[in-house]
Amino acid sequence: MYIVSACLLGINCKYNGENNYSEAVESLIKGHRYVAVCPEVSAGMVPPRPPSEIRNDRVYSKEGDDLTELFLEGAEASWEEALQEAERFGEDIELAILKARSPSCGAGVIYDGTFNSVRVKGDGFFARVLKEKGIKTITEEDC
Ligand code: SF4
Repeated sequence: MYIVSACLLGINCKYNGENNYSEAVESLIKGHRYVAVCPEVSAGMVPPRPPSEIRNDRVYSKEGDDLTELFLEGAEASWEEALQEAERFGEDIELAILKARSPSCGAGVIYDGTFNSVRVKGDGFFARVLKEKGIKTITEEDC
C-alpha cells in the first residue's frame, strides 16, 4: 500500500482550489494499491485557504495566523486514515509519495516561512509523522 498526497493525483485540495497532478506519480502507482490523503483537508481546511509555511517549527498562514495545531491534527488524521485503509486490505504501508515543499507533505526540503520561495532543509508535519512511523517518503520530484 502506498500513501499519496491527494493533490498529486489531480484532486483539487491545494490551498488555491487547484491540484498538483503528476503523470510520473500516476505511472509509479500503477498496479499498486494506494490511499490518497490530504492532511490539510483532513484538518477541515478546505480550499480555498491562504498558503502556509513553517517558520521556527510552527505553521503560519500568509495572513499571519498560527495554524500549528490544525496542521498537527491533520497530519495525525491522515496517518490514521492511511493506517485504517492498509489494515482493511491487510497490507503494510511501503512508501509515501508526497508533494514537495508543502508545510504538510514536503519531505526533506520546505519553504523557509518568508513566502519568498526560499528553500530550506526540513519536513512538513505529515512527512514528520510518516518518518516517525518508519515509512519511506519520496516526493513527486523523485519519480
Ligand atoms: S496538504 Fe498535501 S495533499 Fe493536501 S494539498 Fe497540500 S500538498 Fe497536497
